[in-house]
Amino acid sequence: MTETRSHAGARLFGDHFLLSLDADERALVERLRALCRESIGPQAAEVARADVFAWDTFRLLAREGIVGTAFPKAFGGSDARQALRIRIIEELGRVCSTSASLITGTDLSSRAIVAGASETLQRELLPDLCSGELQAAFALTEPGAGSDVRGLQTTLRRTDTGYVVDGRKKFITRAGTADWFVVVGRAHDEPSNFIAVLVSRDAPGLQVSPTVGKLGWFGVPIASLRFEGVAVPASHRLGAEGEGFSLAQDALLRARIGHAAMALGRAIGAVEIATTYACDRQSFGKPLGSHQGVQWMLADMVTRIEASRALLALTADKYDRGDADVATFASMAKLQATDLCMQVVTDALQLTGGRGYLQDFPLERFFRDAKLNQIGEGASEVHKTVIGRDLVRRAREAERNPCLRDGSLVDY
Ligand SMILES: Cc1cc2nc3c(=O)[nH]c(=O)nc-3n(C[C@H](O)[C@H](O)[C@H](O)COP(=O)(O)OP(=O)(O)OC[C@H]3O[C@@H](n4cnc5c(N)ncnc54)[C@H](O)[C@@H]3O)c2cc1C
Repeated sequence: MTETRSHAGARLFGDHFLLSLDADERALVERLRALCRESIGPQAAEVARADVFAWDTFRLLAREGIVGTAFPKAFGGSDARQALRIRIIEELGRVCSTSASLITGTDLSSRAIVAGASETLQRELLPDLCSGELQAAFALTEPGAGSDVRGLQTTLRRTDTGYVVDGRKKFITRAGTADWFVVVGRAHDEPSNFIAVLVSRDAPGLQVSPTVGKLGWFGVPIASLRFEGVAVPASHRLGAEGEGFSLAQDALLRARIGHAAMALGRAIGAVEIATTYACDRQSFGKPLGSHQGVQWMLADMVTRIEASRALLALTADKYDRGDADVATFASMAKLQATDLCMQVVTDALQLTGGRGYLQDFPLERFFRDAKLNQIGEGASEVHKTVIGRDLVRRAREAERNPCLRDGSLVDY
């Protein structure tokens, strides 16, 4: 007879990281856990079945103050530390990638407004973006510029009143529902001058394509944008001219930390599911989980997940302290967490056999969703390049290993 286990109570993965949160932050995580148990988790499969924007979940997360964690207190948010945000996103990722990406996507799309909009524009938009009344989308990627985003071709031509935008953007999350688009382009007459502007959905000359079908991450549809002579007032520029790229990098940094947290949450969920199956399933006369080969697989998963969580927690602390090397750590955390998640979800699906392959079983969804974390906000290979380049640069200045003789190693 199969024993039914509790849905609440002690977790398979420890709560050690919650100890670094204060009482209010822990209370928010507990409230979110209850929501995940009661509605977000049980409804995740249904939300993912339709590729329409998950308004109900978004509004729920806005009402509960989860969306607001990305916004300053002055505009109704709670300006949460990354130490808390990674816990929130991990909780959501454990059950529902759609919900987790609603939070990372809010950061991505609103961050340049928080960091670069004029006070007037902030007062006009941020309270409604924070409450979920309004939505923004982040339009950086282009048909000819993805990983190599400095190759973007969208231009901004200066006029007496502002700019005229021409160009195309691709893979834009929330394009179908956003009220505002954060658009990064380059000055028409000065290609090295990157400029970010905020474009209204209703702006004449802006066309939004129909939703583009994809493998997973349902509930957060994507589409393409075409800008043909779109006039933008100077008051809608974000930051100064020349700051467009750094504003985009600032948004991507937070989103990368979010991707890592979402991937680890999903990996945790996959291990929970695989372990439950290993306890329930009999194979060759004993529980599946009693076979040493299965235990070793699970041991590898859980050990590497905990190591990745520690790296991510360190990265979040670095962000909250404003450490100069946070971008490299965010690349390491994202690379490690997202590649690990793909591996863990694949192994968990293998451990659950034919059931893992069924649409009715959550791992099929986890498997499809895992892939995007390795591609979005910088593909794994791009992060390896960032990390390796930084290492080689620092090696020239770093303390030499004391086992070495003086002089060039070429002279050994
Ligand atoms: C579902 C989804 C949602 C998205 N949402 C948004 C959004 O809201 N806003 C936005 O602006 N963009 C968005 N994107 C775009 C996303 O950020 C890009 O897809 C991503 O940056 C990769 O760019 P690319 O697809 O053009 O791949 P390419 O640049 O064509 O790269 C293809 C592959 O080549 C490899 N590669 C690339 N460069 C190197 C290198 N230097 N060394 C080694 N290997 C390399 C990598 O494996 C990479 O995956 C979204 C994409 C998807 C699929």
